[in-house]
Order: sequence, then C-alpha cells, then structure tokens
Amino acid sequence: MSGAVNFRTCGSVLVTGASRGLGLQIVDSLASEGFSPGKIIATTRNPDTAQKLQELAKKHSHIHILTLDVVSQESIEKCAEEVGRLVQEDGLNCLINNAGINVMADYHSVTAEKMIENFHTNAVAPLMITKAFLPLLKRAASKGGAGSSGTMGIQRAAVINMTSLLGSVELNWGERANNFKWYPYRISKSALNMVTRCLAVDLEPDGILCMGIHPGWVRTDMGGSQAPLSPEESTSSVLSVIGGLTEKDHGSFLNFTGEQLPW
Ligand code: NAP
Repeated sequence: MSGAVNFRTCGSVLVTGASRGLGLQIVDSLASEGFSPGKIIATTRNPDTAQKLQELAKKHSHIHILTLDVVSQESIEKCAEEVGRLVQEDGLNCLINNAGINVMADYHSVTAEKMIENFHTNAVAPLMITKAFLPLLKRAASKGGAGSSGTMGIQRAAVINMTSLLGSVELNWGERANNFKWYPYRISKSALNMVTRCLAVDLEPDGILCMGIHPGWVRTDMGGSQAPLSPEESTSSVLSVIGGLTEKDHGSFLNFTGEQLPW
C-alpha cells in the first residue's frame, strides 16, 4: 500500500515554492487524493500571481496560502509567526523545503554571483527556514505523533529537503559527468545534502526526521519538456516515499522510487 495514506494522520504539512511545478502538484495531490493531512500550508513568494494555487484553495478549505520568499530572513520569520498562529499547540508536523532555482552556468560562464544566488536559494534557505520553524516542529514532535507511538515519521515531525541526483558527488563521474555541467545548481544541491545530514544529527534527539529526496526528472519549468516524468507521476511516488518514512530513513538521500542514492 502507498505510504501516502499516512498523510491522513499528519496534522499539518508546509510546502515552500507552491506556486507552480512540483510544489503546486504536491499541494494538489495532498488536497485531492483521499489522504489529506489536517492543514496544508502552501507558501509562495507572491500569492497574488499564484492563480492555480488560489483556485485550489477555493476548492479545499484546509489549504492555507501564506507568503514566503525563501531568501528573505524577514519573510521567513513573519511566515513562521503566521504558521504558529495557524497550528497553535499542535505544532508543525511536516516541512517540505521544495522551492529551488537552477542558475545555469558551466565552467566557462560560472561567476561568483551565480554561485551565491543558487547557493542561497537551494542550500542556505532550507537551513534558515528549518531553524525558524524548529520551535513548531519540536512542539509537534513532543506530542509523539499519531497514536503517540513516539516513532519517527511525518505523523510526528519531519523535514524533507527536495534535492537532486545532480547533487551526488559520487555520480558526477565517468560518462554521467558529461551531462548537465551546471556548477551553481549541482554544488548547491550537494550543499543541501550536507545541510540534511547536519540537521539529521542535530534534530535526532528531538525525534525530528530529516532526509533528502530526488523527485526524478520531471516536466516542470525547471525540468523542461523532455523530462520523462509528469508532475503527477513524480509527486505520487514522492508522497508515497515521504508518507512511509521511519527511523531507518532518518538522514537518508532517497530516490523518488524509495531507493538509496549515493552521496
Ligand atoms: P520550478 O517549476 O522551477 O518551480 C520552482 C518553485 O520554486 C516555484 O514555485 C518558485 O516560485 C519557487 N521559488 C524559487 N525561488 C523562490 C524564492 N526565493 N522564494 C519562494 N519560492 C521560490 O521547479 P520544480 O521542477 O517544481 O522544482 C521543485 C524542486 O525540485 C526544486 O528544489 C528542484 O531543484 C527540485 N528538482 C526538480 C527536478 C525536475 O526535474 N523538475 C529534478 C530534481 C530536483 P515562483 O513561481 O515565485 O518563481
């Protein structure tokens, strides 16, 4: 059975970058497919222009749209306060750091500015967001999860980082290394993978699961039209994997199929 059914016993899920692409699809699937969590907090840097998200929220009253520009500390802190008011004593169960950019540049065209821009959005922002939401995640974790089982998972508290196979140092070798020579993106996702491991070490005593997942190559604005997976297909697998996470997956780097990926 798909692990996604476990979202039914998850009080709240927050998704960053929910205006389009995978973030929007995650919100859509969580709201529409019969395994909905209590509250879906869909964040976007510009709610006014996020038409599709607004339409979804009109259909599903448990979707809450909040403003969050992931590279603005002020925006992160304001959003954390708003989420605190929304979830109250229950805390936040599942944080999905999905927002990301690909500042394309190879060895010849890469600049310090391009590196820093990509690094900020893809690696620094998920860390700063997790820090800001930590009191809410801890509050949820301290309740012990659905049925107070005390085990790790989305029913209790989890930080999910949307990473990429292209962040794997080991896989960037041999024949594969000739494709996607994107310095800023690849290096930012390698850094995000280390953020995931550092957080996993530090948040384990609080019972907060941390992991990174590769969604596959998906037909979004970022993935392009040649990608083999539709957003629906990718999200169906991603939610199944996330929903089924337990202690054994803490600190892991998983493919959307659920297999371990090499760091
Ligand atoms: P996408 O279609 O380009 O969408 C990116 C999302 O991130 C948009 O909602 C965008 O919001 C948001 N975003 C970017 N910068 C932001 C900021 N400063 N503050 C708030 N939101 C921001 O990309 P996607 O394909 O859905 O990718 C989602 C995640 O999956 C990314 O982390 C990406 O690296 C990862 N991933 C994707 C693929 C793939 O094949 N598509 C493969 C591996 C990993 P705006 O609408 O406001 O710009």
